[in-house]
Amino acid sequence: MKAIRGATTLASDTPQEVREKVKELLNAVADANSLKAHEMICIMLSSTGDIHSLYPAKAAREAGFSGCALYSSLEPDMEGSLALCVRVMILADTDRAIKHVYLHGARVLRKDLSQVINIALDGPAGSGKSTVSKIVAKKLDILSLDTGAMYRAAALKCIREGVDYAEKSQVERIIENIDLRVEYRDGKQLTLLDGKDVSGEIRTAQVSMLASYVSAYPSVRAKMVFLQRKIASEVSCVLDGRDIGTNVLPDCPFKFFLTAAPEIRARRRYEEDRLKGSTQTYESILKDINERDEQDKNRAVAPLKCAEDAVIIDTSEMTAEEVAVAVCEKVQEKI
Ligand code: C5P
Repeated sequence: MKAIRGATTLASDTPQEVREKVKELLNAVADANSLKAHEMICIMLSSTGDIHSLYPAKAAREAGFSGCALYSSLEPDMEGSLALCVRVMILADTDRAIKHVYLHGARVLRKDLSQVINIALDGPAGSGKSTVSKIVAKKLDILSLDTGAMYRAAALKCIREGVDYAEKSQVERIIENIDLRVEYRDGKQLTLLDGKDVSGEIRTAQVSMLASYVSAYPSVRAKMVFLQRKIASEVSCVLDGRDIGTNVLPDCPFKFFLTAAPEIRARRRYEEDRLKGSTQTYESILKDINERDEQDKNRAVAPLKCAEDAVIIDTSEMTAEEVAVAVCEKVQEKI
């Protein structure tokens, strides 16, 4: 279940104005979230003390929002609060990413919500990006896009097609028409290749190494970057990768670069993989990480590099939760 919020202001305190503005607000929230009537569990409205002419809940019922519980309350008078303001919270039975809607004078309440927010989280393998990205996304109620999963899916496609990955033209031909999509279920990213979920299959050591290899081809990067920019323009998300701040979203206002010593990154991967039943040794993971770092840092196109305006966080001595809190604090400072 999700709590979708919104607010609007009225031009005057008349029943007609309350009707129109409440209807406009509820329709805008429903449209922005593609909400169906049966997904709305409860609509809670509140109004500032200068609205006396009509209960917003009554206006909501008159506007056709009558299939769920409706509730109105009066807000206490506060110095500096907006005049003639109606706020809403809709509890909705949906797994989709949600959008809050602020209209008219109420836009000033949440400038951050009136636009798509993207957060760039870059760093080398094992720096904690994907774990931190998921925690940050949850805290801010936005999505987390693991861009590495897309390069991994591209690598898996090459393996499945039996492509000689050292042959650039063969790789390009396969990736040009790749059927790669990202979907979300219960807030969790699913990576779909040729219509099938490959989220588990792309996590092998073979795919890791090959992803790093094929991601050096400009045409592969161009394809992935195109898909990533499209997703980022449509939904608020944290993007974790290698080149988000430098290449995918160079104008992104929130850029972070996570680092940690290779030994610590290898230890984290080792612990993580062991829980999943992997038998790969710590030494071989460390070797892979060092090789991948070299490959990712030294490729000609969009190498792993810290953007000049990124906040650098050394995660060596921090838990993922601590890093996520630090990221959220920085983001909230700016909005
Ligand atoms: O982050 P992950 O280990 O899943 O990424 C797999 C590989 O994909 C990386 O080693 C890197 O070469 C490549 N990659 C990239 N650009 C990104 C994300 C991943 O080149 N934005």
